[in-house]
Amino acid sequence: MADAIQHSCGLVGVFGTPDAAQLAYLGLYSQQHRGQESAGICSTGGREILRRAGMGRVTDALSPSDLTALANPIAVGHVRYSTTGSCHAANSQPLLVNIGDAPVAVAHNGNLVNAGRLRAEYERRGHLFNATSDTEVILHMLADPAYRSHADPLAAVMRDLVGSFCLLLLHPDRIEAVRDASGNRPMCIGRAGAAWVIASETCALDMVDAEYVRDVAPGEIVTISERGLESRSFGAVGVRRGHCIFEHVYFADPSSRIFGQNVHRVRKEFGRRLAREAPVPADLVVAVPNCARCAALGYHEESGIPIGRGFTTNHYVGRSFIQPTQLIRDLTVRLKLNAIRDVVEGQRLVVVEDSVVRGTTTRGKMQSLRRAGAKEIHLRVASAPIRHPCHYGIDFPQHDELIANGRTVEQIREYLGVDSLAYLSLEGMLSCVTPPGDFCNACFSGNYPIPIDPGFRKDAFEQQQLRFVDAHGVLRRP
Ligand code: SF4
Repeated sequence: MADAIQHSCGLVGVFGTPDAAQLAYLGLYSQQHRGQESAGICSTGGREILRRAGMGRVTDALSPSDLTALANPIAVGHVRYSTTGSCHAANSQPLLVNIGDAPVAVAHNGNLVNAGRLRAEYERRGHLFNATSDTEVILHMLADPAYRSHADPLAAVMRDLVGSFCLLLLHPDRIEAVRDASGNRPMCIGRAGAAWVIASETCALDMVDAEYVRDVAPGEIVTISERGLESRSFGAVGVRRGHCIFEHVYFADPSSRIFGQNVHRVRKEFGRRLAREAPVPADLVVAVPNCARCAALGYHEESGIPIGRGFTTNHYVGRSFIQPTQLIRDLTVRLKLNAIRDVVEGQRLVVVEDSVVRGTTTRGKMQSLRRAGAKEIHLRVASAPIRHPCHYGIDFPQHDELIANGRTVEQIREYLGVDSLAYLSLEGMLSCVTPPGDFCNACFSGNYPIPIDPGFRKDAFEQQQLRFVDAHGVLRRP
């Protein structure tokens, strides 16, 4: 399991059923793995847009009375982990504003690389920002007369965004779904009877019994209204494809089909390839729960080494990476996993892990296997060494905190306290996805498909605001 990383967000939109908010709630529930900091739903019956949102998981953030209040035929929902802007209520989504007389709500998955520059420009022109996420700048652009004078204002705004973005925009009469031209994050469309459902992952479609229709294409704007589904391109040019391969390594649900392939199958192929690249004599293959299970199965099938359950899992603790501080992450890992002595004692183990980021939690898990009496531990990682931060919505630590940055595999092995260590090669990873050239692998290779702003920090807008707080704690604008 990747330690000390956070993921961005999950989206769902439902059009054309009185139960839209309920279905959106279920869709969010099934995508809880994409973010646990906050959850929110906006809905409309054709005039005003209503909003309910709160901190924490879906079940904590939204109550039955919220869903009753939101009962309307069109709804958009969002679960969040912060990649730009910290964890507080003002940053929960969907964001809801009036542009002119018309309400609009926006929900965003991804990370805008040029948000800092765009926001600074608007602030210079006197715009006030309520939140500190990168998403809010999109609303300022949509309200900007310079964009509103375009024949297609939304397309004009999208052309000027740089980075990773899947967006759902809720208007009183329609939902608009947008996917950036690199197709960095997944987004799919389904039908549940007469209703339309749009979601980050197909597991949300399954949850509400919606049939998969197709993905939102990179660079596409899909509008769903009483007229049905309409599509247009927003006209981005010269953008490389860059599907996030880490969605397959760790983030997405194994049942989901993203970027044209089932996540479980891809993970299993990672494991098979790993077994061919890094074989080792052993008694038992053990998966580090939960994400490495598919890869461990692949390793077992390819190597013929029996597979067993080496850890118990406490299902009542959230995913460790999703917690916003290192201390909490470490404690939840300890709460979450316990080695099973009767299984691992005296055994030569092949331990399959999906990824290693800082290495601290992986080391903790290896120690617990040792304490439980494992004779040998051969760690096999079903992805390449992560040496570079992500700028597109996955909150990896900076270079110096990544265990693989500037260290050899032997040095990492020593730190983790295992008998042998091998990673899947980047070529091996890419051989399991199609077409390999359409995938972003920048955190492994440093080859960023979308231009980045290396100096940009997740908390940049908080830092900016702090400069304006006076001695009495009053926010002052310069
Ligand atoms: S840098 Fe890594 S985590 Fe970020 S989008 Fe690319 S593959 Fe995904």
